[in-house]
Amino acid sequence: MSRAKQPHIAVVGAGAFGGWTALFLRRHGARVTLIDAWGPGNSRASSGGETRVIRATYGPRAVYTHMAARALALWKEHQTRWRRQLYHGIGVLWLVESDDQYEKAAVPILRDARIAFEELQGAELARRYPQINCEQVRWAILEKDAGYLTARRACAAVLEGFLAEGGEYRQAAVQTPIDARNGELSTIKLSDDSSLTADGFVFACGPWLGTLFPDVVGERVRPTRQEVFFFGTPSGDRRFTEEALPVWADHGTRFMYGIPGNEWRGFKVADDSRGPLFDPTNGERAPTPEALQIARDYLAYRFPGLKGAPLLESRVCQYEQSPDEHFIIDRHPRAANVWLVGGGSGHGFKHGPAVGELVARLVSTGATPDEQFRLSRFAR
Ligand SMILES: Cc1cc2nc3c(=O)[nH]c(=O)nc-3n(C[C@H](O)[C@H](O)[C@H](O)COP(=O)(O)OP(=O)(O)OC[C@H]3O[C@@H](n4cnc5c(N)ncnc54)[C@H](O)[C@@H]3O)c2cc1C
Repeated sequence: MSRAKQPHIAVVGAGAFGGWTALFLRRHGARVTLIDAWGPGNSRASSGGETRVIRATYGPRAVYTHMAARALALWKEHQTRWRRQLYHGIGVLWLVESDDQYEKAAVPILRDARIAFEELQGAELARRYPQINCEQVRWAILEKDAGYLTARRACAAVLEGFLAEGGEYRQAAVQTPIDARNGELSTIKLSDDSSLTADGFVFACGPWLGTLFPDVVGERVRPTRQEVFFFGTPSGDRRFTEEALPVWADHGTRFMYGIPGNEWRGFKVADDSRGPLFDPTNGERAPTPEALQIARDYLAYRFPGLKGAPLLESRVCQYEQSPDEHFIIDRHPRAANVWLVGGGSGHGFKHGPAVGELVARLVSTGATPDEQFRLSRFAR
């Protein structure tokens, strides 16, 4: 495409959704400027921190199983291309104690999507993983081609790849209000008093999306406070490393999950229950004793060998929760050249490359997104 005909697209937000979108838009031949207030995978962003789980088990939501499969292929392709490990394929183990609706619904979808997995019964599980208390576990799904991704390091790698392919990056905050007139947006104001004019705009602002577009998105993206803990394992003990354990997801009364190796940062334990509303800009990120106690109690129950393990680190992050936990991928209803991308709802990171690929195609072709991702679903 000649430079004269090249559309200029501004992508605001260099997290999992925006970074990959910018990269794929560049590959569609656009001139792309990626803008972020604090940097890709920064400590306030939902994509911050060391690691994220990648799995294809999604209960009855086949759309995300297929999206995760596509994303995994893209993660693998890019880590080879960029010569750095972003994906750790240590598997994901889904433990089922009582209610197994979610896992049961997932099995035929996993099969249909040709995801490599095994169904394990309680006794077999206890034999393979003696470090897990399997007394109450009835059965499990072991996703073999799944595991974890590096988070902030992957966001930095995407930026690097984007720059190497001719993208432009600016560290600045886009100022509100965003002023779309006559059905289009032409210019955004930045925190350094400059402005940026482009032909199209993608806002992938994670937990900030509702504040930037209060009338169109507003509370449809609610930042919720989530706490993550990293416990110390006994020195030299390999039972709790990624050599011996996969990522686990415990879809019991509380949905607890964790990552054993976690880039050597300690044994990660998190509670997926949605916490209270959180201010992603000014919120203090100190953990609460209550959430720590839940993590400790869980650890003592599920991994008795780690009972009383010392806390090494903790993180407070936020989900960018949509009402139905589906993503938001849509045009702004009153500005045809503005796209809104977000609502990762605690499960968006793994899908970054597939979302980026999809959004770049939509922006480049003008196609309409699937109904399940559109804002109009909330009006029904
Ligand atoms: C604790 C925790 C655990 C999670 N676990 C998993 C998991 O295991 N697997 C998984 O797949 N997902 C997981 N998720 C969800 C996943 O991390 C998110 O859905 C995903 O990272 C969201 O990416 P994003 O690009 O939409 O948002 P973000 O990463 O928040 O990116 C938005 C970016 O926009 C920038 N920005 C905002 N406003 C402006 C502005 N005005 N001007 C310029 N820039 C701006 C911010 O600086 C930020 O970098 C988890 C999330 C959390 C918090």
